[in-house]
Amino acid sequence: MPANGRVPTPTLERLATYMTVLAGLKSRGVETVSSIDIEQHTGINAAQFRKDLSYFGEFGRPGVGYDVSDLRARISRILKLEERQKVLLVGAGNLGSALAGYAPLRAENFEIVAAFDNDRAKIGKSLWGLAILDVDNIVEENRRLGARMGIIAVPANAAQEAAEKLVEAQVVTILNFAPVVLRIPRHVTVRNVDFFQELAVLSFHLP
Ligand code: NAD
Repeated sequence: MPANGRVPTPTLERLATYMTVLAGLKSRGVETVSSIDIEQHTGINAAQFRKDLSYFGEFGRPGVGYDVSDLRARISRILKLEERQKVLLVGAGNLGSALAGYAPLRAENFEIVAAFDNDRAKIGKSLWGLAILDVDNIVEENRRLGARMGIIAVPANAAQEAAEKLVEAQVVTILNFAPVVLRIPRHVTVRNVDFFQELAVLSFHLP
C-alpha cells in the first residue's frame, strides 16, 4: 500500500474490473497478459493500468508481461477479497431478499450473516435460510457476529436511521441502496448504489 494509505477510489474500482477480466482469462487457460491486452479487454488505457498497479509496488516483468494467476492473486490480496467478510443486511424487503438470495456473493467471500428489519410480521421469519432479526437488537447481535460491513436496503426515509444503527453496531463500511445521501462519521466508508443516477446518465446518451 502507498505510505499514506490513500489510493484513489477510481483506482480501486478499476482493480475490481481487472480482477474480473483476469478471472475470465484464467478460466480460458491464458497464462500471461500485457498491459495492452488488459486495455483491449477492459477499454482502460494501458498506461492507466500500469499507474493503478504502481500504487502497490512492482508487478510484471518487462518484455514478458504479467502472470495472470499471480496478478489476480495480488489484486485479490490488495482488495482484501481473500478474507471472508461478514455483512449485515438491513431491510428484508424486495431488494434485501434478492441480495440475500444471490449465491455468487458468497463465492466472492462476502457473506450476509444476518438480516434485520423493523416489521413485526417479518421478524423471526426466514430469508433464504437467514433468520430475520429485530433491527433494534442489531448492536447486541453484532457483538456476537462481528461484522464490519453493512448493506442498507430500507426505504429512503429509514436509511439514515439504519446507517446510524449500523455504525452503533461497529460497522465501518456501508453499501447503501437507498436513494439518499447519508450523514456518517468520518471513520465510516459509504458506497451508494444509485439506480436513478445510472439510468439518468444512460438517458442522456439516448439518441
Ligand atoms: P421494500 O419496501 O420491499 O423493503 C424495505 C424493507 O425495509 C421492508 O422489509 C421494511 O419493513 C424494512 N424497513 C423499513 N423501515 C425500516 C427500519 N427503520 N429499519 C429496518 N427495516 C426497515 O423496498 P425495496 O424495494 O426492497 O427497496 C429498498 C431500498 O432499496 C429502497 O430505498 C429503494 O429505493 C432501494 N432500491 C430498490 C431497488 C429494487 O429493485 N427493489 C432497486 C434500487 C434501489
